[in-house]
Amino acid sequence: MQSGAIRPLTNMLPRNLFSEEHDAFRETVRKFYEKEVIPNIEKYEKQQHVDRDLWNKAGDLGLLCATMPEEYGGYGVNRLYSMILIEEQAYAMDSSTGFSLHSDIVANYIHNFGNHEQKQKWLTQMASGETVTAIAMTEPGTGSDLQAVRTTAVLDGDEYIINGSKIFITNGYLCDMVIVVCKTGQEDKGSANLSLIIVEADRVGFSKGKPLNKIGMKGQDTCELFFNDVRVPKANLLGMEGMGFMMLMKELAWERMLVAIICQAGAEAAFAHTVQYTKDRKAFGKSISSFQNTRFKLAELRTEIDFCRSYLDRCMELQLDENLGIDAAAAAKYKISDMFSKVVDECLQLHGGYGYMMEYPIARAYIDNRANRIYAGTNEIMKELISRSL
Ligand SMILES: Cc1cc2nc3c(=O)[nH]c(=O)nc-3n(C[C@H](O)[C@H](O)[C@H](O)COP(=O)(O)OP(=O)(O)OC[C@H]3O[C@@H](n4cnc5c(N)ncnc54)[C@H](O)[C@@H]3O)c2cc1C
Repeated sequence: MQSGAIRPLTNMLPRNLFSEEHDAFRETVRKFYEKEVIPNIEKYEKQQHVDRDLWNKAGDLGLLCATMPEEYGGYGVNRLYSMILIEEQAYAMDSSTGFSLHSDIVANYIHNFGNHEQKQKWLTQMASGETVTAIAMTEPGTGSDLQAVRTTAVLDGDEYIINGSKIFITNGYLCDMVIVVCKTGQEDKGSANLSLIIVEADRVGFSKGKPLNKIGMKGQDTCELFFNDVRVPKANLLGMEGMGFMMLMKELAWERMLVAIICQAGAEAAFAHTVQYTKDRKAFGKSISSFQNTRFKLAELRTEIDFCRSYLDRCMELQLDENLGIDAAAAAKYKISDMFSKVVDECLQLHGGYGYMMEYPIARAYIDNRANRIYAGTNEIMKELISRSL
């Protein structure tokens, strides 16, 4: 098996987002994946989650919640650092670590809508890896249609009583805290019913299912969560009651970008592996790479990958200026995750039978990539959003 984080081939159009400081950070992340993650991927896949202490190691190196302010344990850096972290995960061809959901999604909800006490308590523990977090929106009965959430939080004096269940929750099995999307208001209020409530994993009545048996991303912790008369103090409400939907909308463009970034880097990694493989593998006395079909296929893929790279990096510039539209982010998520699926399919074909064997990174990339077209809003929902802007 080829192992180690792959250095992707240089893009036809050079990238211009990063400085030397970014490159140094990238090196730290790369070493972390090489030393701590890549040697353990098979173990994570067997146990269906990473080791708990991997979170502490990542925290010690400053790889968690880096974009959060220093007073809350982060480094106050911009989202290019998140981009680097995600890219290096993809270049390591790892799908086990759920750091980005914790650092780039959950932390933002707390930072954007939490009060000082909530930020002080949670962000600091999240940055060190002491607390692992998840966000629970999806339920057995609803995913794309968030307004149909049935989990309820009913106020009883100074406490909410939560009842319901959630499914497909990333980091769910190891989480110490989860932000739960609950219905708090009257049935007829639609999205104005929804609130975000922090639930600590040791609350009475809260339980976790076993890690779910997914077709890919097997090392990533994904499970069901159950809430049976779980009592939490009213102070665990994030932001204002009934504002949950609005809060979820605020960072949606960024959340779609996270998937686009991992897919783009994943496609670059799969492509680089395949270029090397076709040079090494011989048939009819020649390298596979010398056949016109191989060269043309690789040229086509190279072109598609680089076109997507330019679009994505431009979206990232707009994101940094806080000017990225929902439609542009939806287009990045849909197009780049589709492109990734196409790239891994073509690359697997160029590996022949070895591409179908799990020892080869392309096989894992092939099955792992599939979820990207489903989560963070399905690609069909992305097309809905794009069409609404027309
Ligand atoms: C590996 C993994 C990790 C996940 N992690 C999390 C997590 O951490 N937290 C969390 O809350 N959720 C998570 N999810 C859930 C994920 O966000 C949902 O699966 C996704 O939103 C789709 O919802 P659904 O599965 O209920 O599908 P449905 O909503 O039932 O969709 C089924 C099909 O119908 C289509 N469809 C639905 N509505 C429309 C429409 N209006 N127009 C056209 N087509 C439509 C969809 O595109 C899809 O093809 C995860 C899922 C996976 C697979």
